[in-house]
Amino acid sequence: MPGGTSQTLRPFLWRATNLYPDTEIVSRNHDGLQRYTYSEYDARTCQLANALEAAGIETGDRVGTFCWNHSRHFETYFAVPSMGAQLHTINPLLPDAHIQYIVDNADDQLIFVDPSLAPKLAGAVADADDEFDGVDFVVMGSEESDDLEATPYESFIEDHESDYDWPDVDEDQPAGMCYTSGTTGNPKGVEYTQQMLWSHTMASQTPQGIPMADDDVVMPVVPMFHVNAWGMPFTATAGGAKQVFPGPSPEPEDLATLIEDEGVTISAGVPTVWLGLMDYCSENEVDLSALETVIVGGSAAPKSMIEWFDEQGVEVLHAWGMTETAPIGSVSHLKADLHDAASDTKIDKRSKQGLVVPGLEFKVVGDDGNEVAWNGEEFGELWIRGPWVTTEYFKRPEANETDFEDGWLKTGDVVTVDADGYMEIVDREKDVIKSGGEWISSVELENAIMAHDDVAEAAVVGVPHERWQERPVAFVVPGEDADRESLPDEIDDMLADEYPKWWLPDEIEFIKQVPKTATGKFSKKDIRQEYADQSLVDGQVPDEAAPDRD
Ligand code: ADP
Repeated sequence: MPGGTSQTLRPFLWRATNLYPDTEIVSRNHDGLQRYTYSEYDARTCQLANALEAAGIETGDRVGTFCWNHSRHFETYFAVPSMGAQLHTINPLLPDAHIQYIVDNADDQLIFVDPSLAPKLAGAVADADDEFDGVDFVVMGSEESDDLEATPYESFIEDHESDYDWPDVDEDQPAGMCYTSGTTGNPKGVEYTQQMLWSHTMASQTPQGIPMADDDVVMPVVPMFHVNAWGMPFTATAGGAKQVFPGPSPEPEDLATLIEDEGVTISAGVPTVWLGLMDYCSENEVDLSALETVIVGGSAAPKSMIEWFDEQGVEVLHAWGMTETAPIGSVSHLKADLHDAASDTKIDKRSKQGLVVPGLEFKVVGDDGNEVAWNGEEFGELWIRGPWVTTEYFKRPEANETDFEDGWLKTGDVVTVDADGYMEIVDREKDVIKSGGEWISSVELENAIMAHDDVAEAAVVGVPHERWQERPVAFVVPGEDADRESLPDEIDDMLADEYPKWWLPDEIEFIKQVPKTATGKFSKKDIRQEYADQSLVDGQVPDEAAPDRD
């Protein structure tokens, strides 16, 4: 017999507003710190749903957001899906061409945009062909925008009723959507149905997930445009936790202040965020005593980070996930029989990407197509499946052919699994660079660089970076007539026309030829290796990929 209602987001909102009407939601907005309760949140969310309906948004329509983490953005998180529409969170850090592509691909009807991000969106709109035709804009605040023709959010909702009869939405109805950057081509859309978000929330709430309860104060630093801030706003609402949103471009000082003033107990972000906070704490007196758990993911958590937080009495939970897995896939909880293990063993385990969360299954497939042994040494590609793991990309049949098999998602992450079941990422098949939690497509940069008349060949690789985890470095074979003095600047200028500043390579090195694999592809592994050797071995310049300094 089926259950009485579908698996949707509605009961999470219902529970928080009825059981915890006075629990606070605090938000560092562009117009100051705002504080209200779940009860007021509920009223505003209803007003928003009524306003969207009045604006013509119907079941199945897509509504975009182009926003940082704040309470108005959080209002869209429940209003849009719970009225039967679909929330498409757009990453504002992408190059304009990607933004144009995804708005068009998703067919967004209306986009909520932050005042500070309006110039960026306006730039993408101005350069667009017809991608934004018919899209309405609402700017997050009380004021009009100088950059875009947009209704201020507060005027958009103000005249509408503060209750709304949330419908019975089908659990297979798409509720959310997020694009992920692929190695080649345009970003790929992943849709989250109501059921996927429900089951992800419930799994997050298990002790082996990232649970959040009514005595927690939850602050997602991971952007709400990144896989729903790793689902935290849903998980925190389900648990009735106080929520704190750090707002536009939070600096370490802003995070420290919110942790201290609001008593944050759980927060989450990429390693770059925590490195920034650690730095800030080394120079300033910060009271971290309320903080209990920090969830680190998106890129590998360094052991030194786990140890530093241990010293502050804060537990790091290292988590792995992807846009395609909504995103939580594994968390590095310590198994009960390891509690008394040597401290080195414990840190080793906790710095791995961890134990698969309840509800998912995975296997690790080696080069020969067989599953590898769980011995911490043999490696292969991680395949994963489960109720909140997608089985297809939105309107991308060619990617569906390669990235899925028999219901499994082929993650492109190369992993080992040890005898205790801890998964560890050892490499990435995807030829992309992850800088501060954001993707840079090396292939796209290579093509852009090779479009320069004086470039014969170019390879871009990610090299380890203390703060950003990885940064792009370009290895360029100049053409015969190239002016080597001016070429790097010309390349930089050319890239800056098309890409955001953070995409530009940190270094452009000249080399004699790009090392190739047996099949003639650029051998990124060799380039990375030789680049690393070169910086280690003083004065010795390796052959093929050697930066040509003469
Ligand atoms: P997210 O927004 O969570 O970063 P993406 O889909 O953009 O999701 O990126 C997912 C990819 O990021 C994974 O396939 C993996 O390569 C990398 N990744 C995620 N978490 C970790 C982690 N804890 N350690 C190392 N790499 C990670």
